[in-house]
Amino acid sequence: MAFPRLRNQDGTYSTEASASVKDRFYSNIHFEPNSGCWLWAGALHGAFGYGAFKIGNRQSKVDKAHRVSYELHKGPIPKGLVIRHVCDNPACVNPNHLEIGTVKQNAQDMVRRQRHMFGEKHYQAKATEALVKEMRGCTSRSDGIRIGTNYGISRQSANDIMSKRTWKHVQ
Ligand SMILES: [Zn+2]
Repeated sequence: MAFPRLRNQDGTYSTEASASVKDRFYSNIHFEPNSGCWLWAGALHGAFGYGAFKIGNRQSKVDKAHRVSYELHKGPIPKGLVIRHVCDNPACVNPNHLEIGTVKQNAQDMVRRQRHMFGEKHYQAKATEALVKEMRGCTSRSDGIRIGTNYGISRQSANDIMSKRTWKHVQ
């Protein structure tokens, strides 16, 4: 038997999918009363602290929980755009804390968050495994390079990372 279709042509969730997906989705949330954040209590996606959620069956790919939340509550995410956290908490999936943005804005958010965490003085423009994965996860090479340079690494280093001349061990 085929797995029920989860998405309509326009990218929105089908009605049946939406009910079962929502049930499963809400069972993974921890509501944080002070910030209003909905913290993801399930598995995490990669090293950036985003929640991981599978919309479909076992074989389907893992989606980022905040993107699923946005789609469930607000609608499809336009192609090429990303979801930003206005609360600066990557684990948050509260749709009211999420907004559509560009890859560049999202990278700038990450830089700001990192500076906030480590302090401007200690901020060093060095590639990390997490950054390398995020860069290579981009659909286009130029987006990957842009994320790297937004983090402060040089264009040359970003290029090398994308071409796998460096960081070869990172899948
Ligand atoms: Zn939040």
